[in-house]
Amino acid sequence: MKLLVTGGAGFIGSAVVRLAVSRGHEVVNLDALTYAACLENVAEVAGSPLYAFEEADIRDAAALDRVFAAHEPDAVMHLAAESHVDRSIDGPGTFVETNVTGTYTLLEAARKYWVGQGRPEGFRFHHISTDEVFGSLGATGKFTEETPYDPRSPYSASKAASDHLVRAWHETYGLPVVLSNCSNNYGPYHFPEKLIPVIILNALAGKPLPVYGKGENVRDWLYVEDHADALLTVLEKGALGRSYNIGGENEATNIEIVRRICGILDEKRPREAGGYAELITFVADRPGHDLRYAIEPARIREELGWRPSVTLAEGLERTVQWYLDNEGWWRALQGRQGVGERLGKAG
Ligand code: NAD
Repeated sequence: MKLLVTGGAGFIGSAVVRLAVSRGHEVVNLDALTYAACLENVAEVAGSPLYAFEEADIRDAAALDRVFAAHEPDAVMHLAAESHVDRSIDGPGTFVETNVTGTYTLLEAARKYWVGQGRPEGFRFHHISTDEVFGSLGATGKFTEETPYDPRSPYSASKAASDHLVRAWHETYGLPVVLSNCSNNYGPYHFPEKLIPVIILNALAGKPLPVYGKGENVRDWLYVEDHADALLTVLEKGALGRSYNIGGENEATNIEIVRRICGILDEKRPREAGGYAELITFVADRPGHDLRYAIEPARIREELGWRPSVTLAEGLERTVQWYLDNEGWWRALQGRQGVGERLGKAG
């Protein structure tokens, strides 16, 4: 297939690009190269004849028309987004512009192209979204695909809006879409503003390890390369108009994640001054911090035969090792705007 991947210079998009090229798909990576982008994430496939890069913004209709006409893709995998909840608290406008207006503009460009091609049945628009659209769970229960939407942050509200637009373009115009909503990803190339890389890099620098509130928030952690594999499965086998929840079957509290990372670093890079856990520092909570997310993965498992393959213990070990081995990658990103600062305290 020839895939147009938006956001392919970001964390998850680049994992999709690397995996798709390794499986023999042609990939056009469309990315506006915002603060969160890093073309090094796709360096291992950049020389492949199967790979092309287009610097373009999903809010730019003319640029999108040009890219569709030039490359004639068989499918779109839409990952481009503003993705950091803390940044959405400080500056929600960009989230509405990219995640809502950008998705609308991309849908219209895809529809125009699909109609112009004679409405090919095999065309797919795969919209990649988050479990955060479902809101927050108490101590029990899981999100299914039928859970009512209840987003709480500007980020999750903008993603929820984009999900609704994608469904509407299917119902109203017949655009062949599939959707997926997944839990928190982690792994190589994770931008150093998200919990797991922040903890690893602060620990290596001997700095405090900031944990929001009491660290009791629960997330279901999905290794990014498992997610990329799930996304290609949804694209290839998912039923039209249907959405699939993707989880890692790995629920953990934030404090548990932080303690596990400390334990791995204690073994791999022992610290003379004492165990890394001594650096843990509880800080003011994120406003509106959702307590718990958990994914019920029965649909993707039973209908598409997909399950995650990486346990939390394996995934964290690989991730910590990757950051130890790739200092040049993360050092270059630490100077970017907002990185290393506490964001999203809402005044
Ligand atoms: P990311 O922030 O690492 O990457 C986003 C990419 O999109 C960047 O390369 C950026 O340059 C690009 N981009 C942003 N605005 C753009 C625009 N206007 N036009 C073109 N490109 C633009 O994000 P990520 O963590 O890789 O997330 C990718 C997708 O997966 C997002 O849609 C996100 O909502 C979703 N998601 C993420 C997670 C997670 O844990 N990270 C979980 C569930 C869903």
